[in-house]
Amino acid sequence: MPKPIIGIAANQLAAGSTEFHGNAVTYTPQGFVSATEAVGGLPLLLPITHPDNAKAYVSSIDKLLLAGGQDVDPVLYGEEPHPLLQGTNPDRDLFEQALIQEALAQHKPIFAVCRGMQILNVTLGGNLYQDLSLYSDWNVRHVQEPTLPKHPTHSISVEKDSLLGDLVGESYRVNSYHHQAIKRLAPSLKTSAISADQIIEAVEWHDDSQRVLAIQWHPELSFQAHPSERQLFDFFVNQL
Ligand code: MN
Repeated sequence: MPKPIIGIAANQLAAGSTEFHGNAVTYTPQGFVSATEAVGGLPLLLPITHPDNAKAYVSSIDKLLLAGGQDVDPVLYGEEPHPLLQGTNPDRDLFEQALIQEALAQHKPIFAVCRGMQILNVTLGGNLYQDLSLYSDWNVRHVQEPTLPKHPTHSISVEKDSLLGDLVGESYRVNSYHHQAIKRLAPSLKTSAISADQIIEAVEWHDDSQRVLAIQWHPELSFQAHPSERQLFDFFVNQL
């Protein structure tokens, strides 16, 4: 049986880097490639290009993986940039929004990680806290740096009747590297996990008409240390 083709929405070092002689490069964190391959998927990077390409890209893959990275441009949810907003890439936002719309139109499963969950929520009509300091009940450390990502640092409570609940149970611990979070949830999504300070840590589609799993933490950085994190990729690649 052919391996499922997993389209990984890639990122850009648009300003270049001395590592690449100052040239701009397309990349994705290695963990997404390695984890996808480890569970039997065929990873395929989708470079940021014109949104008109989304239909052809999505037609050529079985499933879509949205990775972490920059903040989502707040203009996409009708806000000016707050002083605590970090770097954005509007080209990436528009391309990934087109990939999301096309994946839903073609009924192809989506697994979204960190920023991936945030751009998913914004694309579907939700919005974000531009920085966690703008959330009045913030009292959990959600940027665990410099603690290594193989160490989960905060707990989450998972909905029993959810895809995620079937995978990790009702009580779980995760790593955390986000300074933004979902504020208003998009109407087509439902919350499947929250942190102790009530930040949304995972969402799914509100019914079974689409196959969507999105999480705020980083299993691509912890799947080698924790079978339960690897299982998230296994579920996405082989079952979702
Ligand atoms: Mn967190």
